[in-house]
Amino acid sequence: VATLGIDLGGTFARAAVVDAQGRILAADKAALGERTPDAVVDVIARAASAALRLAGNVDVTAVGVGAAGQLRGETGIIRVAPNLGWRDVPFGALLAARFNRPVRVVNDLSAAAWGELRVGAGRGVSDLLVVFVGSGVGSAIITHGQLTTGATGVAGEFGHIKVVPGGRPCGCGERGCLEAYVGGHNLTAQLRELLAEADPASPLARLASQLPPGAPALPPLLEQAAGAGDARAREVLTRAADALALAVANQVTVLNPGRLVLGGGTLTHLPLLKERIREGVQAWSSAVSRDGLTVADAELGDDSGIIGAALLASGGWG
Ligand SMILES: [Zn+2]
Repeated sequence: VATLGIDLGGTFARAAVVDAQGRILAADKAALGERTPDAVVDVIARAASAALRLAGNVDVTAVGVGAAGQLRGETGIIRVAPNLGWRDVPFGALLAARFNRPVRVVNDLSAAAWGELRVGAGRGVSDLLVVFVGSGVGSAIITHGQLTTGATGVAGEFGHIKVVPGGRPCGCGERGCLEAYVGGHNLTAQLRELLAEADPASPLARLASQLPPGAPALPPLLEQAAGAGDARAREVLTRAADALALAVANQVTVLNPGRLVLGGGTLTHLPLLKERIREGVQAWSSAVSRDGLTVADAELGDDSGIIGAALLASGGWG
């Protein structure tokens, strides 16, 4: 039995035909044009047709969507999708009408965590904490083999725990969120602020001047500059790394997971952050809570969400 997995981001939609073992049989990706719900449904339908054709037109029993945004529980309604400018869009119903199949819409991180649980770095573990640091920061919590959704479906909004009261503004409209210090977008913003006022003789300014013409300054430059002795780059990076590591350690203390899975592009490109999380969990989570804990890197890369969404559509949370 195969299902269709959809990964809906801010710029692309991907569709994949996934079998019951979590293997991708075929996939296709399409760029979003207009951001209206109907236009996005059209793009998804095109990507899905292409994936189905590549898979030999197998029948799919259901459709699972991992969407970047906040959902209204299990209603299929996307409450807020900042990248798409959506509020209260009945996306599940729109897709169900198009595909004539049951549709399940979940948060992209929940989908990714489910993929890692079933066929990735969380296999065989029933209590899992998954932390992703990409352009944003998020987590998903799996307890006794089930996703923790919370009363209104937004449990795991890890990027928006406060780490500095009244601190840097965050994309969510609040201030001092973890994501405002550690997310890829915000690390880039902090880097640009440093560069704007950097002494031309500083390691950061020298490294930036060596970038190829037109190449943007990206967060790994912070790590390079800190390594070259740049005090201000080190300060920004240390503040971000400590906030992240402390937050993850506290999550471990509260949740007592059997495994912690770390993923996302920012952690891949800034190994120092990932190392700091590992050290922080050892140093700052309570000893009883981390007893038996293993820490692993996410295994499925960009495919975790699409595989997880497809598997979630094929039946139950459990
Ligand atoms: Zn926030």
